[in-house]
Amino acid sequence: CLHYSSAAPEFRERTLIAVKPDGVQRRLVGEIIGRFERRGFKLVGIKILQASEGILANHYHDLQRKPFYPALIRYMASGPVVAMVWEGHNVVKSSRLMVGETDSSQAKPGTVRGDFSIHISRNIIHASDSVEVAEKEIGLWFHGAELIDWETKDHTDLYNV
Ligand code: GDP
Ligand code: MG
Repeated sequence: CLHYSSAAPEFRERTLIAVKPDGVQRRLVGEIIGRFERRGFKLVGIKILQASEGILANHYHDLQRKPFYPALIRYMASGPVVAMVWEGHNVVKSSRLMVGETDSSQAKPGTVRGDFSIHISRNIIHASDSVEVAEKEIGLWFHGAELIDWETKDHTDLYNV
């Protein structure tokens, strides 16, 4: 039964992806959405917003003692961010591979950072780094009602179940 299999937890992992202000300014939103769509992941939430200091302080709480933290917060508040929630099998791990290394100069060609950015301080995209962190970040950036459960009609083509 298609409905039953696509609702199984292994296909319902979610991650937070955010196009950072430099990615929005550089008109890379469509390119980035296209990569996640073509891979087969399901878009369940999306919005453009000016991130508040509060949301950014929470989002980057673990980095607050780093020397680059003030510049990171200024960067992330410098313009709108496009926040998205993508769903699918192993989406947290797969999307980190699609995004590439934090330092854009080390990111491999074929990754978002490796194809479109040069420097660690302007690396155009965020992706959650674990399932637990993803759940926390999704709760920070989205209200529950902004996330849409929907059935993809190509589930069997993607997963063979
Ligand atoms: P990510 O998970 O790959 O985004 O990397 P981290 O969680 O380690 O860091 C969060 C963000 O902080 C990165 O994406 C960069 O925007 C920024 N950042 C991390 N390390 C550095 C650094 O050494 N210098 C600067 N300028 N920014 C950094
Ligand atoms: Mg991180």
